[in-house]
Amino acid sequence: MLKSRRPEILALIAALYIVLILNQPFWRKFYEIVAPHNLRDWLFAGAVAVVVISFSYLLLLAVSLKPLLRAIIIVVLPLTAAASYFMTEYGIVIDANTVRNVIETDTRETGDLITWKLLGYVVFLGVAPAILFCLVPWTERSWRDDARAKLKYAAFSAAAFFAALLPVLGSVLSLGREHKELTLTLTPLNYASAVTTYWRRESRKRVKVVQPFGEDAHRLATGDGRKSLFVIVVGETARADHFALNGYARPTNPELSKVPDLINYAHAYSCGTDTAQSVPCMFSGFDRKAFSNGRAETRQNLLDILKRAGVDVLWRENQAGCKGVCERVETETLTGHKVPTFFPSTENGDDILVDGLDDRIATLKTDAVIVLHMMGSHGPAYWKRYPPQYETFAPACKDAQFSRCELPAIVNAYDNTLVYTDHVLARLIGVLSNAASEGIDAGMLYVSDHGESLGEHGLYLHGMPYAIAPESQIHVPMVVWLSPALREARGIDEACMAKSASERVGHDNLFHSALGIMNVATRVYDPKLDLFAACKTKSPKTYGSLAP
Ligand SMILES: [Zn+2]
Repeated sequence: MLKSRRPEILALIAALYIVLILNQPFWRKFYEIVAPHNLRDWLFAGAVAVVVISFSYLLLLAVSLKPLLRAIIIVVLPLTAAASYFMTEYGIVIDANTVRNVIETDTRETGDLITWKLLGYVVFLGVAPAILFCLVPWTERSWRDDARAKLKYAAFSAAAFFAALLPVLGSVLSLGREHKELTLTLTPLNYASAVTTYWRRESRKRVKVVQPFGEDAHRLATGDGRKSLFVIVVGETARADHFALNGYARPTNPELSKVPDLINYAHAYSCGTDTAQSVPCMFSGFDRKAFSNGRAETRQNLLDILKRAGVDVLWRENQAGCKGVCERVETETLTGHKVPTFFPSTENGDDILVDGLDDRIATLKTDAVIVLHMMGSHGPAYWKRYPPQYETFAPACKDAQFSRCELPAIVNAYDNTLVYTDHVLARLIGVLSNAASEGIDAGMLYVSDHGESLGEHGLYLHGMPYAIAPESQIHVPMVVWLSPALREARGIDEACMAKSASERVGHDNLFHSALGIMNVATRVYDPKLDLFAACKTKSPKTYGSLAP
């Protein structure tokens, strides 16, 4: 039989447990940043600990009615344990975009993140202590005594809070401002505020009216009766510095490196650090600074404009959805199952995006844009992203729980996904080359949606807030291939393209380049952001007047 305890003591134990045990990731990060080396630093660290503990304690005291506090502990401890696991295992932080990703990712991808270690965290650090907490009987006493005792402890705690905070307030504020990742690691505050922010943003746009955009769009004559096709390949989680084309020491581009006239953009940057931001952004016509999910969702995008101008648009999906971008155009879902499941065996490699494309191309009735949305290098289960014959680098980590793999094995598995992506892109270029004989002038642009952290500073995966994101999460591979016939038809100078490929480009260029290459004129087109405009020799007659 457990001894009965006074509620103010139980609340104190709970606060200490959450702050000191479940917030290990926060304290590790704090220790790294502050790097205490003298008494002053240690006093500062002590003061912060007192502030966090007394603040948490005050919150718990405020809700310390028996059924209420027990219910809160039952919910908060397991959730906080899970948050602690993800921050420990992958070094991530939690903000509103993390919540968006969790909600908008299908269960199949989420399934990869559920590991035994996560279950261990939730059961042993969350559920078990919560049950124990609920089993402890509360000391019986009158409500008057109860209130008096709690007030006494609250007063003491508030005094400790202010006494510790006031002398270090300036340092705490500047620490929070300069190291946003610290506040985004403090749990459960981080996910509580993330869920609130996400929910607030969602409810604001519930009545969604999609405003027209580029209403004046029309085709400029293309001439000789041949059809043109532009394929946009939206990559997933590929980082630029692991592409051999960008100088990576390993042969991750065995096939693309042999493609003649391939244009490789070595300095391409993404709009966001996760799929839910980057994919809508690149099609939105907003640049990175102006973009927000809310703005993009309430305005038509590149695909609507192309369609309006009379271009056929098809979205082929091999991932967790197009994030609203393809809502108003023809979509083909190739993920192997219409309903997302936990069974990875139903997943398809990205080859499926190219399968049957030649037949589709042969039956094209008019000029077209086809978007291929890859599964790419989606983590943490990198080894599931490529067929066994593409396992170029071994041993490859075959465990989503990274702590069970050596770092080189994780990188091996990741690099294998790039070798496979390389193959899929080269195969696509082969199909597009053959389309020439069908009277089709084809081209393609591949760009990854964001990069990936692979253990640098203990950080894995992606999704860091852009302002503090490491280069590896925002520097993405981007390549363009245009058939000789398409270059000829548009008057694009290859040498000029190759030369301009060293400039800093990225997602901001996709919208305008696609309009430009498809000869679509509209007021919202900006030739300065069109990768091809400056290299067109057939101006100004055909391309001169883009205004309606
Ligand atoms: Zn992504």
